[in-house]
Amino acid sequence: MSSYVISVDPRPALPVVGTDKLFPVRRVYCIGRNYAAHAREMGGDPTREPPFFFAKAADALQPVPDGVAAVHPYPPQTSSYHHEIEMVVALGSGGRDIPVEKALDHVFGYAVGLDMTRRDRQDEAKKLARPWEVAKSADFSGPVGPIHPASKVGHPAKGKIELLIDGQVKQTSDLSAMIWSVAEQIAILSTYFELKAGDVIFSGTPEGVGAVSRGQTMTGSVEGLGSIVLKVE
Ligand code: MN
Repeated sequence: MSSYVISVDPRPALPVVGTDKLFPVRRVYCIGRNYAAHAREMGGDPTREPPFFFAKAADALQPVPDGVAAVHPYPPQTSSYHHEIEMVVALGSGGRDIPVEKALDHVFGYAVGLDMTRRDRQDEAKKLARPWEVAKSADFSGPVGPIHPASKVGHPAKGKIELLIDGQVKQTSDLSAMIWSVAEQIAILSTYFELKAGDVIFSGTPEGVGAVSRGQTMTGSVEGLGSIVLKVE
């Protein structure tokens, strides 16, 4: 058995509500433009575009406690750091070519998350046909609250999803407004990748994305999954 030539960081992990055990994160997938009104605000056509996916580095996740203010570091190399409130799906098992009707069987649980984005870098990348990592995978760019097991909360298909800045509502919608359901996202993703236990999916953001500044506090929530509170510094 070989050992490593440098020290090995522990695997990124998220706390699970109701237990002191952690959910170990493998990969982080994200869907783009999954709420019609957000697709429109980003210049897309929500009725005809098939879903597209991108990835965030697993160690870009920032585990945050439920309802307790945490510090969120503003990243370098942007002057337009946008909030995207999303429901996060954590897979307890995986597979290839998973049928839609079996997809939710693979879900371990759900959490509140933010797909924080350097929007100026993303706009540049789109214009120059460059990749999105710099825009989407900044350090700490995936704050996520504790995971609620599906065995306790079921599979949320409706319910309010909301993001406030300093108490003012910026994004508000309902999970039922997703264009592609969680089951459909899992099924389609599994045609591109073999999904595995520990994979996490950011299921898209509703309309109202915008910039946050240092000194402001973001409060993100999904009905039934608690809230995350982040002071941007
Ligand atoms: Mn997003």
